Amino acid sequence: MQILRAQEMGMCFGVRDALAVLDRVEDPAGVTIHGELVHNPEVLAWLDRRGFARSAEAARAVPSTPVVAVTAHGISDRERSALRAAGKQLLDTTCPLVKKAHDAAQALAAEGRRVVVLGRRDHVEVRGIIEDLQQPIVVGSVADVATWPERALGVVCQTTTQGEVAAALLAAIVAANPHADVRFTDTICAPTKARIDALLEILPRIDALVVVGGHDSNNTRQLVLRAEHHGVRTCHVDHVRELVPAWFDGVRVCGLTAGTSTLPRTIEAVHGWLERLAAGRQKHSA
Ligand code: SF4
Repeated sequence: MQILRAQEMGMCFGVRDALAVLDRVEDPAGVTIHGELVHNPEVLAWLDRRGFARSAEAARAVPSTPVVAVTAHGISDRERSALRAAGKQLLDTTCPLVKKAHDAAQALAAEGRRVVVLGRRDHVEVRGIIEDLQQPIVVGSVADVATWPERALGVVCQTTTQGEVAAALLAAIVAANPHADVRFTDTICAPTKARIDALLEILPRIDALVVVGGHDSNNTRQLVLRAEHHGVRTCHVDHVRELVPAWFDGVRVCGLTAGTSTLPRTIEAVHGWLERLAAGRQKHSA
């Protein structure tokens, strides 16, 4: 079995920088991570070991610690103000590309457009964007598209949306709202695009794929969906211990990629496991 790694995979600069900020915190017990920093169990376990408090992703209550860490996914200005009004010091690790999506939504709203966000309604990033908007619309699938009365709509994306998905949803919105001027600002982040492009590059050359990343991670799931859409058998794991040798029976070339919140050591552990499996099989067949 040959192993083919995607050229671009794994942790993005937004998550890496957020973790670096938290790594420098000297008194983790005085800091609450507000919402899930990343959808990665290994990283969350590291935060717990260091002694950070963590508020549940859906929690709206003001944390009791003096310092509140805003995650890379960001929060609304409304929530930021509420935390400051409660006397909290903010440790803001919002990714600049998430901030760009907030700014794009605000700019479209300032033009008098009703804003449509393409993404998952229950995702913390989307929640942060829509909380600062008047009558926002969230479109997660074509089933959410409707004919809205406004004559001007502004569309942005959750940063980890697939380009093809965004294009299909945008086309459906335009078709259902012929009376409206629809302006689209592409807010899909560059690292997400790069990981998808690198996956597309290897897909024709592999007959199976391992995707490493949290099971709740949106961008990891997008990598899985894209491979499955191309008919490539795909195994999604968030840790090396989830791999099962029998799954690789008959696989000649196995691809490897990982979501933007996956630690390098997690990827290397999976790669090492695959190499040992491949070496063992080669020995057997010799
Ligand atoms: S996935 Fe993109 S938007 Fe999200 S933290 Fe990484 S770089 Fe930033």
